[in-house]
Amino acid sequence: MLVTPGPIIWGSIALSNYARSDSARPPANNEVIPAQTNPQREPNVQFVAVADTVDETLAAACLARAAELRPALGEKCEILVAAPFVIGGDLSLAELTTWHRQTIAPAAAAMANRYFEKQPDRPITVLLFSTKESYEYYANHLYRDRGISIYGYYKPRERTLVMNISTGGGTLVHELTHALVAFDCPDVPDWFNEGLASLHEQCRFREDQRGPWIEGLVNWRLARLQQEFAAKRVPALVDFLQDDNFRGEREAVNYGQARYFCLFMQRRGVLEKYYSALRQNIDEDPRGLKAVAAVFPDRTWAELDAEFRQFVADLQASE
Ligand SMILES: [Zn+2]
Repeated sequence: MLVTPGPIIWGSIALSNYARSDSARPPANNEVIPAQTNPQREPNVQFVAVADTVDETLAAACLARAAELRPALGEKCEILVAAPFVIGGDLSLAELTTWHRQTIAPAAAAMANRYFEKQPDRPITVLLFSTKESYEYYANHLYRDRGISIYGYYKPRERTLVMNISTGGGTLVHELTHALVAFDCPDVPDWFNEGLASLHEQCRFREDQRGPWIEGLVNWRLARLQQEFAAKRVPALVDFLQDDNFRGEREAVNYGQARYFCLFMQRRGVLEKYYSALRQNIDEDPRGLKAVAAVFPDRTWAELDAEFRQFVADLQASE
């Protein structure tokens, strides 16, 4: 049975005890650029549904997750349920709604439109905290997590994003990408998972005749990658894709190489086709090399490598 996804507000009534921080504010440093024209984004539309209908079981699971979070988050936090998302944090309901409407829902809709065959069938929790201090407090209070990224992180087992939203929305879309890819292609190799997620750190929501999509933009990771290329310290693509040690000592550069190879594929018009080929043959091609060969049938690996290096060299930080 299907039900129409009505956003269910699970707010805290006892707000009078809550000395809300003035720093809780709408996104000021949001790297995600909203679409210029989006018929779904009328000023009076409060919620953007990710899908036309939501499974009743999923809606019930989201409510159960919200009920579980309610005492854990405490009265200083609000919770908004908009299946498959359970969005909570020390922001006002209006601010949580804005993050859902302007960032979470359009990003999920765009990825569903262009990449995914399987949609989330279990809740994804998105925790948004207004300051570095409250983010660190709740990460420790809820999960005993310490020494965390200043931006935010994703907890795969809990399907939960924990975000310091004062740093902007780019990392939110990055971690959201991981949460959604996990439903559609759980065995995705690290390089592509991080490449696609990082591509979305700096992005623009677009819409064309095929519906919404996310355009990756140049970001801060470019300068380091260009330096590494100039110093001849970047491995050939075929070696990079084969190497299973993404999180090793070269992790920072690996993120850049993965991100800009995804941008390269997007600019060449083959990123969606690549994702599809990767998912389809993930068992036989777990690193996604054959999928690269399939979307660039006219290039040898050496030619592709040279073209990619030139692409990176030609990118401008201001693009
Ligand atoms: Zn990531």
